Amino acid sequence: MTAANLLEFDLEGLAAFCERLGEKRFRAVQLFRWIHQRGASDFASMTDLAKSLREKLSTAAHITPLKVLSRQDSSDGTIKWLFDVGNGDAVETVYIPEADRGTLCVSSQAGCAVGCRFCSTGHQGFSRNLTTGEILAQLWFAEHFLRAKLGGAERVISNVVMMGMGEPLQNYAALVPALKAMLDDHGYGLSRRRVTVSTSGVVPMMDRLAAECPVALAVSLHAPNDVLRSSLVPLNNKYPLAELLDACLRYLPSAPRDFVTFEYCMLAGVNDQPEHGRQLVGLLRQHAGQGIHCKINLIPFNPFPDSGLTCSDKATVQAFADQLLAAGLVTTVRKTRGDDIDAACGQLAGDVVDRTRVADRMGNLRRLTESPVIWANKGTVQ
Ligand code: SF4
Repeated sequence: MTAANLLEFDLEGLAAFCERLGEKRFRAVQLFRWIHQRGASDFASMTDLAKSLREKLSTAAHITPLKVLSRQDSSDGTIKWLFDVGNGDAVETVYIPEADRGTLCVSSQAGCAVGCRFCSTGHQGFSRNLTTGEILAQLWFAEHFLRAKLGGAERVISNVVMMGMGEPLQNYAALVPALKAMLDDHGYGLSRRRVTVSTSGVVPMMDRLAAECPVALAVSLHAPNDVLRSSLVPLNNKYPLAELLDACLRYLPSAPRDFVTFEYCMLAGVNDQPEHGRQLVGLLRQHAGQGIHCKINLIPFNPFPDSGLTCSDKATVQAFADQLLAAGLVTTVRKTRGDDIDAACGQLAGDVVDRTRVADRMGNLRRLTESPVIWANKGTVQ
């Protein structure tokens, strides 16, 4: 039997693994707590496990985190890690501290196949899905790094948003066990309300998520009509707005929150005009004759080379927000943070290089060391 990386398992998977070792399933709870609550990676340190079990584990299993390629600290406390996932691929994870919460933005794929026009990850193309262990290892590492840094035993990360690199619902099989470990009281014990999956609209998987592991849902909307949305989010050709919004309505009864968050990236002259606002209000208030209980999050676009897009100016963003608010739609404008630094992360990134490839990555690291400017995060996740 090849030794298994125990970060690949949710509690149910770990219990099945223990059974295969000839151990009682309940041993998995102890083991799971050591791994995720205490950050242990060495079986010898798990002193309340039977010695015979520790010996079996030392040959049949390992706990191997991702290798950190770089860590960058913003002056506002935001931290971004670049993790090596092998074969020249790397993914980003971002920690965003706020007064009342600590949010971790997690990647689900190396690159992304959806190819949204405003997203630098989409421009990089798709490399591969992350495994459950690679998704979970981002949280495992960040949580225990931050606890050690802050010198406490208290949980630091209260919220997880699957908004890093990749379309999480195109990596569903690996995503769900990772979500279950995040939610498990023997794991990270996060509330379903505080774990958010962000999707560009993979309709069938939205239904499965509602049935199998409902967490908070964010949908990348970005346009109020099919013609425009298909030009920005190519997946719209497969799952057009009416189908996507129907899926949102079906999701809501299972959702831990009574609204869906719609992300709307503000692109100058593309989707930010009063007519777009009018169409958006009509779409969201009248869909299926009942409207959708939702919150709209306007995101200032973070430009990157070759996108051919620029960000709406502040006045336009505010006017658009006011238009939606006046129509009764709850609307926020995502705060930007780390103005002292440059670049961004994952889903709505504006980074300037292909971050999935080693050559570019190394070039980027060289540039970073030579420059007083480090990076800027994608902004506060609402
Ligand atoms: S916005 Fe999300 S789904 Fe679209 S290309 Fe970027 S990572 Fe993929």
